[in-house]
Amino acid sequence: MAITTEAAVLRAVAEPLSIEPIQIQSPAHGEVILEMGAAGICGSDRYVIEGTYPVEPPAVCGHEGAGVVVEVGPGVQSLEVGDSVVQIFKGPCGTCRYCQRGLKTFCPTGMDSSGRLRDGTYRMFDESGAAVGTHLGLGSFARHTVTPERHLVKIPEGVEPAVAALVSCGVSTGVGAAVNVAEVRPGDAVMVLGIGGVGAAAVMGAALAGAERIVAVDVKTEKLALAPGYGATDVVDASAVDVADAVGELTDGWGVDAVLLAPDRVRPEHYETAIACLGAAGVIVQVGGTSHDMDSIPVSPNLLLAQRRIVGTTIGGPDPARDVVRWIDLYLAGRLPLQKLITQHYGLDEINIGFSDLVAGRNIRGVVTMSGDRH
Ligand SMILES: [Zn+2]
Ligand SMILES: [Zn+2]
Repeated sequence: MAITTEAAVLRAVAEPLSIEPIQIQSPAHGEVILEMGAAGICGSDRYVIEGTYPVEPPAVCGHEGAGVVVEVGPGVQSLEVGDSVVQIFKGPCGTCRYCQRGLKTFCPTGMDSSGRLRDGTYRMFDESGAAVGTHLGLGSFARHTVTPERHLVKIPEGVEPAVAALVSCGVSTGVGAAVNVAEVRPGDAVMVLGIGGVGAAAVMGAALAGAERIVAVDVKTEKLALAPGYGATDVVDASAVDVADAVGELTDGWGVDAVLLAPDRVRPEHYETAIACLGAAGVIVQVGGTSHDMDSIPVSPNLLLAQRRIVGTTIGGPDPARDVVRWIDLYLAGRLPLQKLITQHYGLDEINIGFSDLVAGRNIRGVVTMSGDRH
């Protein structure tokens, strides 16, 4: 059954999103229609809208969404009408070499930025009848959207949609970077550089894993003021002091066991700081993307002889669907206070304000709540 809904459409890169009525056709094989509850405003959406990451306008962007299944297409096995779900932008095929080995995040067919659905066609159409893409097969910035089953994870009922939405990308990336990739152990010293939504979640992940010292580093005092609420034991203002000196003092000169690099864009100087703060057998985890003028890592190979490691991560580990369930269960058990990451809610028609606030660094995480407005 066709549905008329409303969506924030990217008409041209670097233009504000346009709030428009949209027709959604019936779901095809393996697809479901969702009534969206909330969608997080993630830093990578900004780079899609600005045209840095690939996108084919017109398209509905957004990749950090939560909703409820309202219609199920043929062949859908794991979901039924009424199920609460979150969207994941890496949708594994389940059968390739990586998927068979549990490395689902790296499935070569897991992500498609063409805006078309898996069969190469579209489900969304504007008032003139022209096709509108669903970016990454998700299109979260809409009151309803169509999503392939492989990009959805069923979650327990009753989770606040705004919290559920964040788990699909930012939370999984940050918590997973600490728990799965850095493998933080009880008693470790951890530094998190960049306290946005992902960095704040990384602080929470380090706390969950039992880190003894968690040093939050940022250049914004408002963000550092919130860091202890996420589990940071110390904060360092990189705009005011030398980070390596400060971390050296906090760790009696030993350095930290893990550095989680989570600034908006990783730059060479972030690596220099990370190396200066990293103890022997420590690990640097690059959590965010690099700036586009950065094509190498400024590290002396001699430093690696003391078992130091440098790794990166996408969505905080190899199996996003498994982790979505784990982090939501821990949230429900009161062990991961994810609601604290949300510093502003926006209505769908206020989404461009949300992006302005993101660019200005005003939020840890802003969330578009479909039933609400700015608060
Ligand atoms: Zn994201
Ligand atoms: Zn695969």
